[in-house]
Amino acid sequence: MRIVLLGAPGSGKGTQAQKLMAEKHIPQISTGDMLRAAVAAGTRFGQQAKSIMEAGNLVSDKIMLGIISERLAQPDAANGFILDGFPRTQKQALDLEELLDELEVPLDAAVLMDVDPEILLKRLTGRRTCSATGKLLNIYFSPKEELDACIKAGGELVQRDDDNEATIRNRLDVYRQQTEPLIAYYRKRGKLRKVDADGNIDEVYARFRDILRTKPA
Ligand code: AMP
Repeated sequence: MRIVLLGAPGSGKGTQAQKLMAEKHIPQISTGDMLRAAVAAGTRFGQQAKSIMEAGNLVSDKIMLGIISERLAQPDAANGFILDGFPRTQKQALDLEELLDELEVPLDAAVLMDVDPEILLKRLTGRRTCSATGKLLNIYFSPKEELDACIKAGGELVQRDDDNEATIRNRLDVYRQQTEPLIAYYRKRGKLRKVDADGNIDEVYARFRDILRTKPA
């Protein structure tokens, strides 16, 4: 299964991709996670990406193509993948199409995680990662026991650098201007599926699984 996940920041792409990865044993390829790893490693490229990400802007299409083509060439991507956060621009979508044509592997679907804008804001401003377990949590939506379990495990609830309000606003603008047009792009190619992504993680996952079996939107 080869799929692209579309959706605004905070729409739950990462969470749903992780669940699908665990079930189907195909890698979740999150360009955001890859870029954060480069920033944390302090490489020269990571240092350049850091300020772009902190402002909520996009890293250049050329760099992203390099990152994604290297990643898709890894053996674990041979049987499928879930792209989370790529493509984000029309150019990236065209680059991906070309890359998959060269590899002779078609994309099965582009799945849009559709969320009410009010809920998006709470998801983003409330999002935390447990420093001890790596679990993704939300101070508004996660059960109290899960939040407490992190603290009990000796962890802290850490907020991403780009989850502050000013950056969130810019990330949403960038999404609307540069990424939202990809919905039409994939619809035209008969690849689009839409998931109602309001609701708890398991409910959304059940819809997501159903939608992977249905016809294009
Ligand atoms: P994410 O974790 O997917 O929200 O990505 C975090 C940040 O990484 C984004 O706000 C961008 O600055 C950068 N980024 C991730 N994926 C891409 C991409 N495909 N193209 C350009 N920038 C990206």
